[in-house]
Amino acid sequence: MDLIKIGKFIAECRKKKNITQEELAEKLYITDRAVSKWERGLSLPDADKMLELCRILDINVNELLNGEKINMKDYEKKTDELLVELAKQEEVKNKKMITDMYVLGFTTIVFYIGITMLAAYTLGEGTLFGIIVGIATVILVIVALYAFKLEISAGYYECKKCHHRYVPDSYWKVMLSPHIDTTRYLKCPKCGERSWSKKVMSKGDNK
Ligand SMILES: [Zn+2]
Repeated sequence: MDLIKIGKFIAECRKKKNITQEELAEKLYITDRAVSKWERGLSLPDADKMLELCRILDINVNELLNGEKINMKDYEKKTDELLVELAKQEEVKNKKMITDMYVLGFTTIVFYIGITMLAAYTLGEGTLFGIIVGIATVILVIVALYAFKLEISAGYYECKKCHHRYVPDSYWKVMLSPHIDTTRYLKCPKCGERSWSKKVMSKGDNK
């Protein structure tokens, strides 16, 4: 931190407000020598005085510690950059969930068919065959439920009518809805229309 720059900035803001060092000191319940020290860059305002000082000078703490006014445009730009970065991270995470869902689903179906056929060849029809197919079916159902949960958790559905993007409020409604791949026939909570809603990876309209 540049104490000299901060000091000059405090003095500059104080003069703009047409108040003397004594008046400023009085408002903050401190000595005018303390104010003088800040303005000469010999010390920094105590943390418990900073907010009040900023309020009086009509600046924010960020500006005080930078020793200059920060343009509102830069603020917005910085915020936008942060939001874009967060959206990207979310998108990557969601894409990974969908990939996991496909890998898991595919592996399990191959496993299921393999086990069933192997059991049929080696055991023929009988109790043991029934048990093995039964167990494999239970595993298949559990994995299907898990894969379904991945699909719901990843990203949003986009209404085809109004393009509203949303997370469905109920798993059951989604589970019972007809679907082609991850595109589902759902009722949009915004416009209330039913449409084939596409799965999208981010809330924004950039994709
Ligand atoms: Zn809609």
